[in-house]
Amino acid sequence: MNPQQQFEKLSLAPNLDINTRINRLKSLKKVINENTENLIVALNKDFGRRSANETILAEIFTCNEEINHTLKHLKSWTRPRTKMAGLKFLFSKNEIIPQPLGVVGIISPWNYPFNLAIAPLIAAIAAGNRVMIKPSEMTPNTSQLIADMLSTVFNENEVLVSVGDLKVAQEFSRLPFKHLLFTGSTAVGKIIMENASCHLTPVTLELGGKSPVVIEEDYDIGKAAKSIVGGKFFNAGQTCIAPDYILVSSSKVEQLTNAIIEEFNRCYPDITNNSEYTAIINQNHFNRLNSLVADSESSGQCIYPQGKPEPNNDGVFPPVLVVNPQPNSKVMHQEIFGPILPIISVKSVEESIDFINSRDNPLTLYIFSDNKRFKDKVLRETLSGSVAINETLFQFVQQGIPFGGVGQSGMGSYHGLNGFNSFSHLKTVYHQSRINFNHLIRAPFTPLKQKIIKFLRFL
Ligand code: NAD
Repeated sequence: MNPQQQFEKLSLAPNLDINTRINRLKSLKKVINENTENLIVALNKDFGRRSANETILAEIFTCNEEINHTLKHLKSWTRPRTKMAGLKFLFSKNEIIPQPLGVVGIISPWNYPFNLAIAPLIAAIAAGNRVMIKPSEMTPNTSQLIADMLSTVFNENEVLVSVGDLKVAQEFSRLPFKHLLFTGSTAVGKIIMENASCHLTPVTLELGGKSPVVIEEDYDIGKAAKSIVGGKFFNAGQTCIAPDYILVSSSKVEQLTNAIIEEFNRCYPDITNNSEYTAIINQNHFNRLNSLVADSESSGQCIYPQGKPEPNNDGVFPPVLVVNPQPNSKVMHQEIFGPILPIISVKSVEESIDFINSRDNPLTLYIFSDNKRFKDKVLRETLSGSVAINETLFQFVQQGIPFGGVGQSGMGSYHGLNGFNSFSHLKTVYHQSRINFNHLIRAPFTPLKQKIIKFLRFL
């Protein structure tokens, strides 16, 4: 079936009732856990080398957490939310009733191909929709496994997966979905929004960008380095919320550089034979990273803790630190999405804030500081999708808080109740009471009614 035929098939089916949603989410969790080994193998094939531990943490644990949280709260999310009307509308009542939208779409990228297809699916199913998923063509093994796994959990008129190339993706993005959640690059996000506009399909766009790290001068550099290495080199930097570049006081640049090298070598001794150091997804991305390094050679000081990147067959790209690249260099303009880490010296927190604010709004921002005034200033004077303080990546796995970007890093959000709301129509219902004073402000406007209306202004 092509995407159009899949869409027509799903369109004819009813929305999912609450018990079906709960049963399907429980079965989904079971199937995910039964397929742990298959997922590890598929992702390893797709990446050439994908750390099994990273797969368990980032793809499986995160989805299980999302299902657990959803199952715990689903009944309360689906209940009508009552809001008393204000004093002026005495005795009447308002309700918000969440309703399924119908057939919704999910387009996902290659970097966490399982999580970024399944986490939105959990929200869409929780909200009672029928769902179509277009996983990335760059991870064919994982995409096929997703299709196979979901076909054992969902009926053919509940969830369908459109496995295929760019042509399939283009056709998919033009379908008249009731909502479309896209995770991917900012450039493709613009195309998705344009395609969705012909049907007025609302979109949630989970996009990319450059996520900065700001380190306060007095913060423990060793602690910051540990967390930065953990967040930057997980999945070899192929993470939307990976630290993209660091802003740090000039007096701390050398200490930080040495601490990052030491921590990297402790975590990943000899990357060539280290199954925990993930490879770059394909040759195009390997070449793109190589060209960033080549450009950086002439714009800053490149440091190679485990040797220079060499053309190789296994896609393993070594870490590269770039100290003080030119602000207009390639590495400071593109989202890096790999194990290259620029470190930029600044004189003050104001300079860091100006640097961040002169660029697109980041998806996430990292602050390393124990100083309340420093943290408050950066929080207040910058705008990013999210912020994590004294840690990297863990904001993504927090339950019950929205995840999403702002400006060029995205629009809308999901995870927990926010995901449920994004895939629901929040229908408002106004209930008039038997005791009703509204005739006092309706025509004909007698002198008494005019007095009441004038008085209302002061309430
Ligand atoms: P991408 O934008 O190239 O592709 C994403 C998806 O869009 C794929 O499924 C692809 O098939 C589809 N697609 C590509 N071109 C299309 C077109 N013209 N019409 C319709 N569909 C099209 O992104 P990618 O390279 O797979 O992923 C990397 C990007 O995703 C990075 O920018 C990263 O920051 C971002 N990302 C964001 C998040 C987040 O949560 N905000 C998470 C992961 C990745």
